[in-house]
Amino acid sequence: MNFKRRIRIITGYILAEALILSGYLSRARKKSFKPGVITSVAFHNPSEKLFGEMVVWLRKKGFTFISASQLIDILSGKVECPRGAIWFSLDDGWRNNLTKVLPVAVEYEIPVTVFICTGAIEGGAFWWRKVMQFPDLVPPELRNINTLKKQPEEVRKQVVQHIDEAGVSPLREAMTVDEVKKISEMTQVELGAHTDTHPILPNCSEQQIEEELATSKRKLEEWTGKSITVFAYPNGSYDGRERRILEAEGYKLAATTEDEYGRINSNPYFFPRHIIMDDGSFAENICHALGIWAPLIKRIKRIFG
Ligand SMILES: [Zn+2]
Repeated sequence: MNFKRRIRIITGYILAEALILSGYLSRARKKSFKPGVITSVAFHNPSEKLFGEMVVWLRKKGFTFISASQLIDILSGKVECPRGAIWFSLDDGWRNNLTKVLPVAVEYEIPVTVFICTGAIEGGAFWWRKVMQFPDLVPPELRNINTLKKQPEEVRKQVVQHIDEAGVSPLREAMTVDEVKKISEMTQVELGAHTDTHPILPNCSEQQIEEELATSKRKLEEWTGKSITVFAYPNGSYDGRERRILEAEGYKLAATTEDEYGRINSNPYFFPRHIIMDDGSFAENICHALGIWAPLIKRIKRIFG
C-alpha cells in the first residue's frame, strides 16, 4: 500500500473515532431504526476481520439482516419492514469472498447478496485489475482507471481486448464458475447480476446495455438453475435508460451506490447503498455503513474548501 493511501486510512480512522466519541454514531443508529428505513451496505473484497467486526457490531446493536428477496417483498408492500433492517451485498464476485466473507455469513446466519460479473468469472480477472497489472500494454493516457471509465465503451473494450490478446496471464481474482455454483446452494447466499463485462453503462449504447443485462442473467441462471432477479450497476453508474431494459429482462431490484438510506418507498430500480472502503478501518466503515461519513466530508470540504 502506498504512503498516501496509508495516510488516508489513518486520517479516516482518527476522524471516525472522533465521530463515534462525539455521539454522532449513536444518533445515526437511531435514524436506522426509524420506521420504514432500510440500511443498505455494499462491500467488494473486504478482509475477514473487517466483515466479521461489522457483522458482530451490527448484530449487537440490534440490526435485522434481510436478504434481497425480503427486500423485494418489503418494497412491494408484501411484508412489513422490520425496525433496523439492514441489507448486505458484495459486488463483482471476488474469490476472496469465499474464504473471508462467507464463513462469517454462515457462522452468524447473515443473508448476503453477491453480485456477479459473469465474464470475469469465466476469464478469471476483472478488467481494471488487468489494466493495473499490465500497464505497458495500455496507451499511457488511458492507464488511469478513472480516465478509462470515462471513455466510450468501444475504447474500454479495445484496451481490454489488446491485453487479452497479448498472451499474458492475469491473476485469477474472481471466483470460478464451479465456485459460483457452489455458493448459489448456500442458504445464506443470493446471487445477483452485475453485467457480463463490467462496462460503465452510461458509456454504452442501448443495444450494449441490453446485451450486458441479458447475458449476465442468462449465464447465472444456466450455471445455478435459479432465477436471477436482482442487479447492481457496475461502478454505481447509470443514466436511466437501464430501467426499461431491467424490467423487460425480469429484474425486480437494481442497486446503485448513492450514499443514502433506503426506504420502503424507494424506487426498486435505483435502490441506494452505502459503499464500504474495503481497506479502511472498522471505525470509518461503521460510519460509512450508517451514512454519516459522506455528509460530514461534504461539510468539512465546505468549511475548508
Ligand atoms: Zn463492480
